[in-house]
Amino acid sequence: MTPKTDKPYWWEAAEPQVADGGPLPEKADVVIVGGGYAGMGAAIPLARAGRDVIVLERDRPGDGASSRNGGLTSANIRWSYSKLKAKFGEDAAKAYYAEGVAARADLKDFVETEKLDCDLSMVGRFTGAMRPEILDSMKREAEIMQRELGIESTVIERKDQYDEIGSELYHGGIRRTDMGGLHPGKMHRELRRVAEESGTKIWGDTGVTNIAQVGTQFDITTPKGTVRANHVIVATNGYTDKGLPWLQKRLVPVISEMIATEPLSPNLMNTLMPRRQMHGETRQLGHYYRPSPDGTQILFGGRRYDDDMNAARERLRNNLTSIFPDLSDVGLSHHWFGFVAFPMDQLPKLTVHKGIIYATGFCGSGVVWARWMGQKAAYQILEREEAETAIGSQPFRAIPFYNGNPWFLPVMMNWYKIKDRFSGTLK
Ligand SMILES: Cc1cc2nc3c(=O)[nH]c(=O)nc-3n(C[C@H](O)[C@H](O)[C@H](O)COP(=O)(O)OP(=O)(O)OC[C@H]3O[C@@H](n4cnc5c(N)ncnc54)[C@H](O)[C@@H]3O)c2cc1C
Repeated sequence: MTPKTDKPYWWEAAEPQVADGGPLPEKADVVIVGGGYAGMGAAIPLARAGRDVIVLERDRPGDGASSRNGGLTSANIRWSYSKLKAKFGEDAAKAYYAEGVAARADLKDFVETEKLDCDLSMVGRFTGAMRPEILDSMKREAEIMQRELGIESTVIERKDQYDEIGSELYHGGIRRTDMGGLHPGKMHRELRRVAEESGTKIWGDTGVTNIAQVGTQFDITTPKGTVRANHVIVATNGYTDKGLPWLQKRLVPVISEMIATEPLSPNLMNTLMPRRQMHGETRQLGHYYRPSPDGTQILFGGRRYDDDMNAARERLRNNLTSIFPDLSDVGLSHHWFGFVAFPMDQLPKLTVHKGIIYATGFCGSGVVWARWMGQKAAYQILEREEAETAIGSQPFRAIPFYNGNPWFLPVMMNWYKIKDRFSGTLK
């Protein structure tokens, strides 16, 4: 079944708009490369502190992942707390998870204080266990997180899961009430509005092709001219191109894509998604899904590793109906995709290399992390105490034998598929 459009569902209400700042200035205090959540998150505190800040964006600001995502405000960390503790030690693991809690709270606080019109709702998230033994591991992990971090969650046994989701697929799961969802397109539109109202100037259709250090300053080159700046923040994440070779060698871009069902009846929605909350799964290549903000459609996402759009859509659709067989005859209204980015250690990054600040590597969870790290990048320039980040401070290593073309991705994805099939993977 072909969807009506390959544009994101979110663009119906908030499609990214062009930005024509006029002739490029020769100088700026701060240049931000990339106009998504991270770029806008950096611009706002800088502009509010009176800095002369400009954003240079290759397409329309927001055209990247920031207006295409699922809108789940999870601040996910790809490692479980226990695995993080084993690898980086207890203090680091605690600090990373605490930063996730702080970043989520900061986003909520910012949306409320600034009165952003972005449909943020802390409705909770249910993560379904793919096997009974996975639920046991989830219970143990939940107990440890409660005891050591004070992070609350509720274990849902299979017999009770119909209050969470109308599906037979899962063997119970965990419900978190400190997570929710927002409208990503509206969120980006609002961040851009606040950035511009604070004095940020934005140029769309202005890709950066080179950044060169000149003494203590930088020359940032674009087809429209070169800007000399005191500081540069790079916020290009999954859309990083060859204009940024140092970063390209450190980030793996991965396609994340979504479908939206046609509107469903209130009765069906009440059965399938009784709480109208956010959803995830324990599979490594698991799906994320949610109701549309008006509660009438299901938006369903997953990862892709080849170029075949049609096959990918059918795969997503089949996976949706394996969770909700009632949807087997339902049409799709939208199908779209975007790029997310993974560093080798799968932890978000705030790194300075040769004076350039990089805020990136959000591993498909940048709705919270991208604005947070962008903001931290700004705090570094403003020399504010809050610039510190525990999770973003791990070394940002180059990936061996890699230049930005992820030739190994199909092999990795196939390995994850096998793992998912045989273990139902809990990371
Ligand atoms: C389908 C999908 C679903 C997702 N679901 C979720 C979710 O539910 N929850 C969650 O937390 N996260 C989710 N994500 C991830 C999240 O959207 C991203 O992590 C986040 O938007 C990253 O923001 P960013 O500002 O770092 O990058 P982006 O928004 O991707 O912006 C980067 C920008 O840099 C620009 N750029 C690149 N190179 C240059 C250059 N040389 N010069 C100038 N500009 C350049 C690009 O054009 C782009 O606009 C999802 C992503 C996708 C694609």
